[in-house]
Amino acid sequence: MIQRFVIDEAHCVSQWDHDFRPDYKRLSVLRVNFPKVPIMALTATATQRVRMDILHQLGMGSPKLFLQSFNRPNLKYEVRQKTKAVVKDIIELIKSKFKNMSGIVYCLSRNDCDAVAAELFKSGIKSAAYHAGINNREEVQEAWINDKFKVICATIAFGMGIDKPDVRFVIHHSIPKSIEGYYQESGRAGRDGEISWCILFYCYKDMHRLKRMMMKDVDNKHSWATHFDNLFRMVHYCENKTDCRRVWMLAYFGEIFERQLCLNDPRTSCDNCFSKEIFEMRDMTADAKLIIQCVAAIVDHKSRKNFTMPYFVDIYKGAKPQKIVAAGHDKLVLHGK
Ligand SMILES: [Zn+2]
Repeated sequence: MIQRFVIDEAHCVSQWDHDFRPDYKRLSVLRVNFPKVPIMALTATATQRVRMDILHQLGMGSPKLFLQSFNRPNLKYEVRQKTKAVVKDIIELIKSKFKNMSGIVYCLSRNDCDAVAAELFKSGIKSAAYHAGINNREEVQEAWINDKFKVICATIAFGMGIDKPDVRFVIHHSIPKSIEGYYQESGRAGRDGEISWCILFYCYKDMHRLKRMMMKDVDNKHSWATHFDNLFRMVHYCENKTDCRRVWMLAYFGEIFERQLCLNDPRTSCDNCFSKEIFEMRDMTADAKLIIQCVAAIVDHKSRKNFTMPYFVDIYKGAKPQKIVAAGHDKLVLHGK
């Protein structure tokens, strides 16, 4: 009597996906036990590789494929430098640009959610925290959906299955775990088609924090490499100041996108396309080699001693703080390069 099977979030079937769930893999029994019942698989964020794997895992021979572009033309993507004053920056942003508008602020940890929500609230922005440690989560979620308050500060546990049409902004307080993750989280903005903002606050340090959090998950040791890989892709995205965000993100999903389409509408063109900064192409191979040699030399001579990245940046820039002079590192060829 079964008419059809419909599998939502089908990307969870594939181990190539960031959201892989072993239980989903067992859905292969559907084709085995009910060979005549049609199957429909739905997903919003699958790369070409994951799409193929879904078909394979679910035993879907030659299905009809319905694909839509990954581009979200009404979203404006932006990456901003994250400083110590990030919460102040977020408050200013919401007060000036998103006054009385509905939005999400994604944070890395429960503590961050609580702290950011409290700061926002103190400054007069109606906000609440949402994470796995909150008991009345559903109440909080409902209240936000019904506009009882405007801003929800949440971990990525928040959002699956939520379809609030008028989310005007999604702010990332920290770097997301992967491009898929970012696409999905930021994609909760502007479901009604109106112009909406996706603003990511980035600092390199957050990568280390996230990496440490991933390493705590020792049960999943075998998938560390995949997670780190995904994270570094996200770092590349954030560090990039010249390429179109859309071209970059859509290429990741196997889609070729014309940059001109992003440039066409200044209201929605990404920060890199919108920017008037001029960049000059230079071959930095020699300097890169020198940096590597310099790092290797220092670490060799004084083993066990750690130097931070900013330390090497100082050497490269030719700064002469006491620490560098005392160590004699102002004599290195790299110094002042
Ligand atoms: Zn662009």
